[in-house]
Amino acid sequence: MTQTHYRQDGDIAVITMDNPPVNGLGFDLRVGIDAGIRRALAEPTVTAIVLTGTARAFSGGADIREFNSPKAFAEPSLHDLIGLIEDAPKPVIAAVAGLALGGGNELALACHYRVGLPGTQIGLPEVNLGLLPGAGGTQRLPRAIGAAKALDMIVTGNPIRAEEALTLGYFDSLTDADLLAGAAAFARKVVADGSKRPRLRDRTVSPDSMPGGVDAFFAAARDHVDKTYRGYPAPMKCLECVEAAVKKPFDEGMKVERSLFDELVESVSSKALRHAFFSERAASKIPDVPDDTPQRPIRSAAVIGAGTMGGGITMNFINAGIPVVLLEMKQEALDRGVATIRRNYENTAKKGRMTQEEVEQRMALIKPTMTYADLSQADIVVEAVFEDMAVKKTVFETLDATMKPGAILASNTSTLDVDKIAAFTKRPQDVIGTHFFSPANVMRLLEVVRGAKTGKDVLATTMALSKKIKKIGVVSGVCDGFIGNRMIEQYSRQAGFLLEEGCSPQQVDGAIERWGFAMGPFRMGDLAGNDVGWLIRKRRYVEKPDLRYSKTADLLCELGRYGQKTSAGWYDYKAGDRTAYPSPVVEAMLATERARLGITPRKISDEEIVNRLLLALVNEGAQLLDEGIALRASDIDIIYLSGYGFARFRGGPMFYADTLGLPKVVEIMKGFAANPHADPAFWTPAPLLARLAAEGKRFNA
Ligand code: NAD
Repeated sequence: MTQTHYRQDGDIAVITMDNPPVNGLGFDLRVGIDAGIRRALAEPTVTAIVLTGTARAFSGGADIREFNSPKAFAEPSLHDLIGLIEDAPKPVIAAVAGLALGGGNELALACHYRVGLPGTQIGLPEVNLGLLPGAGGTQRLPRAIGAAKALDMIVTGNPIRAEEALTLGYFDSLTDADLLAGAAAFARKVVADGSKRPRLRDRTVSPDSMPGGVDAFFAAARDHVDKTYRGYPAPMKCLECVEAAVKKPFDEGMKVERSLFDELVESVSSKALRHAFFSERAASKIPDVPDDTPQRPIRSAAVIGAGTMGGGITMNFINAGIPVVLLEMKQEALDRGVATIRRNYENTAKKGRMTQEEVEQRMALIKPTMTYADLSQADIVVEAVFEDMAVKKTVFETLDATMKPGAILASNTSTLDVDKIAAFTKRPQDVIGTHFFSPANVMRLLEVVRGAKTGKDVLATTMALSKKIKKIGVVSGVCDGFIGNRMIEQYSRQAGFLLEEGCSPQQVDGAIERWGFAMGPFRMGDLAGNDVGWLIRKRRYVEKPDLRYSKTADLLCELGRYGQKTSAGWYDYKAGDRTAYPSPVVEAMLATERARLGITPRKISDEEIVNRLLLALVNEGAQLLDEGIALRASDIDIIYLSGYGFARFRGGPMFYADTLGLPKVVEIMKGFAANPHADPAFWTPAPLLARLAAEGKRFNA
C-alpha cells in the first residue's frame, strides 16, 4: 500500500506522507519518500521539492508498530533518506504541521528549508525511551537553534511550539492556514533567489547560545544532568552528543552520536523504559473485552466519603471536567473535605500553575451533599468510606436503592472482597473496584478490579474513564489486596525478617532507595501510618495462625509509634520537619526482639537486602499470574512503576526477574531458603516461576 502521494504543482513537486495516525516512518513510508524524491529529482520540469505530512503530523518519528521487527532496519533507512534529501541537487522544503517528533524532526532538519504552521510541536523525545536521537538530531538541532535550547529539548524530551521554533531559527517561515500554498510560494522564492541549498551540517553552533563560554556552559549542564537524572544514563549521553556538535566537525559528531546510541540501545535502562512504554499500552487490552465493546456514557460522577481518598478522587473527575456530587454523613466532615480540595487547588494557584478563576471553575463542579437522592442520576459513583465491610454494606444497599439503572457502582476498597460488595446489590454486573492510590489526585495508577459478575461494558467504560482522568488503568481480579498490595505484603514481611536478622530500618531503606525505589518500606510505613498495616494484619493474620511474620511492626505500634503523624515511627521526626532521624528507641526494641528470638545480628549486604525485597515481590507476582488475577507480567510491572515508586529505569519487578534470568532467580531464592532464620515456605518458588525457569523462559514475552 502506498503511503505517500506525489503531485506536481507547476514546477514544484509535492510529496505528501500519509501513514496514519502520525506518519510513523515505517518501511513502506520510507520507500515512498525515497521514490518521491528520486522521481522529483529526475523530472526536468521540477525546480524544488516540498515534503509534507498531514494536518495532524508531519511525522511522529519511528513507527512503533515496527519496533523490534526486521522491517525497522530495512533499506532505505532514515539515514539513507536524510542523505538523499540533504545532498539533493534541488532545494527540498519541509512543510510542517501538527508535530515533528523524533525521526520526523530529524527528517525535517535534513531539508534545506522548513516552513511551519503555528501551533506545530517540534521535539526529540527519544530520551523518554532511554535513547538519544540517532539520525543526526543531536548534531543538526544545535546548529539550527543553538546549544542551550537544543540541549534542553534533547535532554528533557520536551517539545516546543512552532512560534518559539521560529524565533530560535528552526523555521524559515510560518504560514497562515494554507500551509501548502505558503510552502509552494516559499519554494518559488528560493528558486527565484538562485536555488540555494543550505545544509545544517555545514553550519557551526552559534557561541551566542552558550553565554559564559563553551566549557563553563557544559560544566554547569553536566552538573545539572548528573543531579537530576540519577540512574538514567541517556540524558548524559545526549549531553555528550550536543557537546560533540559544538566542539567537533559534523562527521565526527555523527560518529559520537552513533556510538552512544548503540550503547544506549543495548542498555538495561533503555530496555526497561521501552518495556514500560509498551506495557502501558498493553495494559488497556483485555483479551475477552474487545476494543469495540459498547461503553456507557460518563458525564457525571458521585463520590461517597470526602476523606483522604474521596477528596483526591473528586479532584480527578473535576480536573477532567466531570461534575461530582460529593456525599458525607456529617456536615463537618463534608465541609472539611471540600475545604481540603480547595486548599489543594489554591496551593497549585500559588505556584502559578492555575489561575484563581480556574480554581473557582473547578470548585463549582462539586456539589456537596448529605442526601443520597442528590446522586441518583450520576453515571458513576465511587465509594471511598471506611475500610469496613459493614459500612460498605450499608452504602451499597443504599446505592442499589437510589441510583438510576445503568449507573456504575464502584468501590475504592483496598483489601475487601469486591464480589461480596457486589452481592449487597441486585445489580452485581454494575459493580466494579476502582482502587486509587494515595494521593489520589497525583498517583497515576488505577487498579481496576473486575468482579466475577462485572459486566464487560462496565469494565470497558471504567478502563476508558481511567484514561480520561489521566490514570493508567490496570485490571486485577478479586483477591485480598489485589495485585499491588498482595505483593507488597510479602515485601513488607521480608523487610521485617531483615530487621530481625540484623538490619536497621535506615539500612534497608537506604539499600532499596539507592537501587531505585522512591521510598524504602520503613519510610513508606511512617508516611502512610504504621497503624494502617497493623489493623490489616490483625484482620488478615487471625485467619493464618501458622504464617510466620516479624512482630517488630506490631511492637512499634504498641509503642504508639504510628509514623509521621505521631512524630515517631521507624524513625524520629521533629515538629514541622519530615526528615527521618534514626531512632534509639527503635534500635532498642529491635535488639530486645532479636534477643527474644535468639538471633545474633549479622551484617547483611545491600545486594542481599535488595534481592530479598525484590524476589519477595517477584514470587508473589508469579503466583498472581498463575491464578489469573494479573493478566500479564507487564501489568504487574506497570502497577509497580506507576503506583509504588519503582524506578522506571528498572522496568518493574517482573522485568527485573527476566533480566536476572529466571533460573538465576530460583537459585538465589534457594540460597535465601538455606539461611537458618529463613521461613523456607517463603522462598518456595511459585509453580509458574519454577516452570518457566525450568523451560528457560521469561515472564514477559
Ligand atoms: P478516610 O477515613 O480518610 O475517609 C473516609 C471518609 O468516609 C470519612 O470522611 C468519613 O466521614 C466518610 N464516611 C464514613 N462512612 C460513611 C458513610 N456511610 N457515608 C458517607 N461517608 C462516610 O479514609 P480513606 O483513607 O480515604 O479511605 C477510604 C477508602 O479508600 C477505604 O476503603 C480505604 O481502604 C481505601 N483506600 C485508602 C487508601 C489510602 O492510602 N488511604 C488507598 C487506597 C484505597
